[in-house]
Amino acid sequence: MREIIWDGMDGRARLLDGLRRVIDDDRVLDAVGAVPRDAFVPDALREFAWDDRALPIGCDQTISQPYVVARMCELLELRGGERVLDVGTGSGYHAAVLAAMGAEVWSIERHAPLTEAAAAALERAGITGIHLVVGDGCAGLPDHAPYDAINVAAAADRLEDLDALRAQLAPGGRLVAPVGGADQRLVVVRREGPGWVSTDADPVRFVPLVPDFPSPTGIFRRQGR
Ligand code: SAH
Repeated sequence: MREIIWDGMDGRARLLDGLRRVIDDDRVLDAVGAVPRDAFVPDALREFAWDDRALPIGCDQTISQPYVVARMCELLELRGGERVLDVGTGSGYHAAVLAAMGAEVWSIERHAPLTEAAAAALERAGITGIHLVVGDGCAGLPDHAPYDAINVAAAADRLEDLDALRAQLAPGGRLVAPVGGADQRLVVVRREGPGWVSTDADPVRFVPLVPDFPSPTGIFRRQGR
């Protein structure tokens, strides 16, 4: 592995320095600093692990850009101890940052090989408190609902595609998801009383949320606390 030096800073310090300019929540910055992103990228791309960009992880999917992961965590307003559903495990990196913020995380992915690789990466990174599930995240994981926060890491065409997920929010709970086709935005949905209030946030670019029928949901592995 090659160490990247830039302006006297290693990759991790350089990434955090950049994020500090745009992310206000210190808990998020601490969590990004605590998770070794190099454990979650393929060996061949390890030298780019601390770059602030998405990278390919196989199955035509990507590990999200650190800035976007940080921004989504900030929008979820986590304070520690929450139950969080993460849709689209991918590399497991986003789930790891959520766990580093003190959440108990259920993370669901439709590609079993990615879940296998994520389990190995989480072990390498020494991160616990994440339950990995292979299945259709569009349906959520009602068996473990309600959630204080739901993170969706793949783009829904329309807000209504997230109805099954928002129904699994606890009172006061927040959901953040990219919504839209060519022109995506992050949307925050908050459960308030008997209804939900949604607010648009930053423009983003995510792979699509692909509905699976029938859902092959099954608990793949439980990582303990
Ligand atoms: N959070 C990931 C990046 C996710 S990329 C990380 O940190 O690396 C989006 C992921 O969502 C992909 O792995 C894709 O396979 C998955 N996905 C898309 N539609 C899905 C669905 N209906 N259910 C579960 N996972 C889905």
